[in-house]
Amino acid sequence: MTTIEQNLHLVRDRIATACRAAGRAPNSVRLLAVSKTFGADAVIAALPAGQRAFGENYVAEGIEKILALRVWCASHSLAAGSALEWHCIGPLQSNKTRPVAEHFDWVQSVDRLKIAQRLSEQRPAHLPPLQICLQVNIDAGANKSGVAPADAQALAAAVAQLPRLTLRGLMAIPEPAIDFVAACALHARTKALFDQINAAGVLARPMDTLSLGMTADLEAAIHAGSTMVRVGTAIFGGR
Ligand SMILES: *Cc1c(COP(=O)(O)O)cnc(C)c1O
Repeated sequence: MTTIEQNLHLVRDRIATACRAAGRAPNSVRLLAVSKTFGADAVIAALPAGQRAFGENYVAEGIEKILALRVWCASHSLAAGSALEWHCIGPLQSNKTRPVAEHFDWVQSVDRLKIAQRLSEQRPAHLPPLQICLQVNIDAGANKSGVAPADAQALAAAVAQLPRLTLRGLMAIPEPAIDFVAACALHARTKALFDQINAAGVLARPMDTLSLGMTADLEAAIHAGSTMVRVGTAIFGGR
């Protein structure tokens, strides 16, 4: 077994343990493997362990890997080639939306309507709708992307109307907390916002994805209700 496979098993064990501790079903949390800065070889090494969902921060780097994996899966007759799921999780400028709409399956970093409108217009007709999470600046970090919590519901309602997008949920990256309790409290704010928007009756279809937690804080995120953790370092190593 490669190190990456072993690491994936360890991370899945962490997720299962955290789910048990929180009284949640172990399959209620999806694992997004964040492969940014690592090559296509690292993604290929994760496939035997059953990993299929990958997160990328940089558009050009991500698309290079998406195309490389398409070729690799075809030449290794891995039928799962089309089943790989690519998530754009980095800050997105409006001049980069077209390649993202053409290549990725999910975008988790939508923080304003203009970006969402462009993604919807540019999503090719032969592909399924782009799956969207809104990034929320939950702790008002000055240098951080994300919609302000107070504006998140209106943005969610507007994004949900766009024809080529499917609104799936919220994503947040809070500042590191001093301990587990503080980290739980911070993640709980995003969970509360998620529940509030779903309960407000502004969405035809409730959001089902709460993307919270990374290598350092996935246990706290799962405690607070995360349904998708985004893990890079614990799988692929330090960057
Ligand atoms: C890099 C990154 C991650 C993964 O972080 P690790 O600490 O390496 O697990 C998760 N989410 C986003 C948005 C990232 O940019």
